[in-house]
Amino acid sequence: MDTNRTRVAYFSMEIALEPEIPTYSGGLGVLAGDMLRSAADLDVPMVAVTLAHRHGYFDQILDESGHQSEAPEPWDPSQHADLLGPSVEIPLEGRQVRIRAWRYTIVGHKDRTIPVFLLDTDWPENTEWDRSLTDSLYGGDEHYRLCQEVVLGIGGIRLLRELGYSELATFHMNEGHAALLTLQLLEEKLGHPRLSEATEADIREVRTKCVFTTHTPVPAGHDQFPRDLVEQVLGHDRLGILDATHCCPQSVLNMTFLALRFSHYINGVAMHHGAVSHDMFPEYPIRAITNGVHAETWTSPEFHALYDRHMPEWHRDNLYLRYAIGIARDEIQAAHQAAKLRLFQQVGTRAGVTLDPNVFTIGFARRATAYKRFDLLFSDPERLRKITEDVGPVQILYGGMAHPKDEAGKEQIRRVYEFAAKLRSPKLKIVYLEDYRLPWAKLLTAGVDLWLNTPLRPQEASGTSGMKAALNGVPSLSILDGWWIEGCLEGITGWAIGQDGEVREATAGEAESLYEKLAAITALFYQRHDDYTHVMRGAIALNGSFFNTQRMLAQYVENAYVPA
Ligand SMILES: *Cc1c(COP(=O)(O)O)cnc(C)c1O
Repeated sequence: MDTNRTRVAYFSMEIALEPEIPTYSGGLGVLAGDMLRSAADLDVPMVAVTLAHRHGYFDQILDESGHQSEAPEPWDPSQHADLLGPSVEIPLEGRQVRIRAWRYTIVGHKDRTIPVFLLDTDWPENTEWDRSLTDSLYGGDEHYRLCQEVVLGIGGIRLLRELGYSELATFHMNEGHAALLTLQLLEEKLGHPRLSEATEADIREVRTKCVFTTHTPVPAGHDQFPRDLVEQVLGHDRLGILDATHCCPQSVLNMTFLALRFSHYINGVAMHHGAVSHDMFPEYPIRAITNGVHAETWTSPEFHALYDRHMPEWHRDNLYLRYAIGIARDEIQAAHQAAKLRLFQQVGTRAGVTLDPNVFTIGFARRATAYKRFDLLFSDPERLRKITEDVGPVQILYGGMAHPKDEAGKEQIRRVYEFAAKLRSPKLKIVYLEDYRLPWAKLLTAGVDLWLNTPLRPQEASGTSGMKAALNGVPSLSILDGWWIEGCLEGITGWAIGQDGEVREATAGEAESLYEKLAAITALFYQRHDDYTHVMRGAIALNGSFFNTQRMLAQYVENAYVPA
C-alpha cells in the first residue's frame, strides 16, 4: 500500500479479523472488523491499529449448572500475519518499552487490501511484565489496562510514523481505549514531550485530525483510571495536559473526556444513542452514524446463492438487497430452512442436542452482561410454558460469554441454565451453546426463526446481531433500543417489545408485551407461514439493504473523514 495515499488511521482495542484470530471480545471488535472489510471492498485508504492479544480473549467452559470458567486461547501471529522490521520505543513508567508489529492484510473486492497492525511487546529486550502487555484483551487490573492503552495510542502513532505514514489526515478512535493517541499527536505538533507547554491553538490543530466514536450510553461504561496511576505510568508532563484540559475530574482520568476534548467529529452508533450521548455531554456536538455489519461476511451460503441468482450486484452494492422484495416466498423459505438444518447439525455434533427443524426456534446470543437481561423471557415462566402448550412448541438457543470479572454477567448464564432445566418439556427446549464466537454467531443469526433481544433501555447503544439476522431473513423481536428504533417496522421487518411500538422506560409492561408478542408471532409461524415469510423478506429488503458497513462507512467518509 502507498503509505502517503493513506488518509485514515483507525484505532481499536479489539478487531475481529477471522475466526482463528481471537483478538476480539464481542460487538465492538466485530464492528471494527466489518468496517475494515468494507473499507477494503470500497478502496477507502485506511490502515488499522490494534494489539496482538497473543492470549486472545478466553475460551468459555460451562459446567452442568452454567458456571463459567475460562481458559486462555493462545494464537500464533506468525501463522496469520507478517512481522515487520521497523520497531519503536515508548516511555512507560520511566522505562522504554520496545514495540514491534505484525501486519495482517484484509483483502476486499478486486484484491484491494487494508493493513492491520497488531502491536506486540513480547520481545527479549523488554522486562517480563512489559512483555505481557499485549497478551490479554481486557485482562489484568487497571494498571495493566492503562499500560495497554499507552501501547495502543502512543505506540500506535509512533509505529505508523516509523512505517512511513506521514500524510494521515484522520485518526479515528473506535471507543475511548485509544484516546491517548491524542497526546502523541500533540507531542508531534510541539516537537517535544513537554505537553504542558501546549497552547489552545496546538490543541485545536490536533482536534482537526481526530474522530471519536463512543459506544457506551452509560457513564459507568467509560474507561477510567485513578489520576495517581496515570502520573505513575505517563509521567508528570502528560498528566499536566490532562489536568489542563479537564480530563481528570475527581482525580480520575476519563478516557471519554480525553477523546471528546480532542476530536472535531464525535458520534454515537445509532440515532437514539447519539441523542443519549449528547444529553450526557451537552457541551459537545455529538452526531450519529448507525452501525452496520459486513453483508457478505454475515450472509449464509444459502442466502448468498439466492441473492446471486436474483441480484448479483449485491456484493458490490448492498443497496441491491432492497430488491429482495421481489423474491418469491418459497425461495426464501427454502434458503432459510437449509440454513436452519445446517445450524441444527452443528448443535447436534457440538452440543449433543437434537433439535426439530419443524419447530419454531428462537435465538438469543450476545455478550452475557446484566443489562442484556438474558432472563427477561423467564419473568413469568408459566406464561412461556402456556404459549408452548396453547400455540405450538418452541426451541430456544442461547449463547454468550461473560467477562471473567463480570459476576452479574455470569449469573445471567446460570439463570438460563436454571430455567432450561425447570421448564424442560416435550414442547419447550432451551439450549445454551458454549463459546459464542464468530462461528456460532454466523450459524445462529442465520439458522433460527426469530432473533430475540431484551436489553435494558437505553443501554444498548446500537446492537448489531439483529442486523446479521436480517441479512438472512431472520426477523427480530426486540426492545425498542439502539438500532431497532430505526429498524423496526412493526409486522414488516419484525416486532417491538413495548405497547404499540411505543418507546418507554423499563417497566413490568415489557415482560407482558414480550409474552403477548411472542404468542402472536408463534401463531403466525405455525398458522400463517406465508405471512411469516413476508416479514422475513421485509427484514432483508428494508434492513439488510441499510444496516450494513458499506452504508455505514460511506457515512463516515462523507461526514467524519472530511477536513475539519
Ligand atoms: C455480532 C456479535 C456480537 C454483538 O452482538 P449484539 O447483539 O450487538 O450484542 C457479539 N459477539 C459476537 C461473537 C458477534 O458476532
